[in-house]
Amino acid sequence: MIAQNLENILSELPQGVKLVAVSKTHSLGALMEAYAMGQKSFAESRAQEFAAKAVQMPQDVEWHFIGHLQTNKIKLVLPYAHIVESIDSERLLEAVNSWGERNDKIINILLELRIGMEESKYGFSEDEILAVLERAEEFPYCRFCGLMGIASNVDDEDIIGNEFTGIKALFDECRIKFSNLSDFTELSIGMSGDWRIAVKHGSTEVRIGTAIFGSR
Ligand SMILES: *Cc1c(COP(=O)(O)O)cnc(C)c1O
Repeated sequence: MIAQNLENILSELPQGVKLVAVSKTHSLGALMEAYAMGQKSFAESRAQEFAAKAVQMPQDVEWHFIGHLQTNKIKLVLPYAHIVESIDSERLLEAVNSWGERNDKIINILLELRIGMEESKYGFSEDEILAVLERAEEFPYCRFCGLMGIASNVDDEDIIGNEFTGIKALFDECRIKFSNLSDFTELSIGMSGDWRIAVKHGSTEVRIGTAIFGSR
């Protein structure tokens, strides 16, 4: 089931769009089934669960953190994280940067844009993202790798398409304005219900849970 789901998605996903398997709430056995198929990128959204799975899964898994992260929990996440996709406030950005400084580790991050209507209560506004990137050099232990967004949980594909058009336009604007940030290359949009739309709108990375592992 998991193997077949993965195969189906990978066969449809264009080259160059990374598949991140969102494994929250699922058992290690389920993760290992995906891993055995060659899936190496996994994402979790709760700090405790992220840390527990990171130490139990094979070392070469690339771990993405995608949930709202409280500053008092960053020490659980940052030792294992390949990237934190859900940097949603300046306070969190500062905390991640200073953890990086203390531990001599540069942390890959995405800035989360608040795009959905009611779903995503977390994230920066467009203006806040531009303002943060103006000051990127104040956060030398954070590597600004791009943007993440969660579209509204609606059936209307026009609404979702408009939201993805908006984040893609901001992403392109950032790439031009801040061309000094050479790692700013990732646009993480698309989940089980809307990844095909996201790919049409320039996604470089889709975060898919339910369509791989089944419902939670
Ligand atoms: C849970 C989650 C996903 C995956 O959602 P599915 O609909 O199960 O694919 C993607 N992104 C974030 C931020 C999530 O929390």
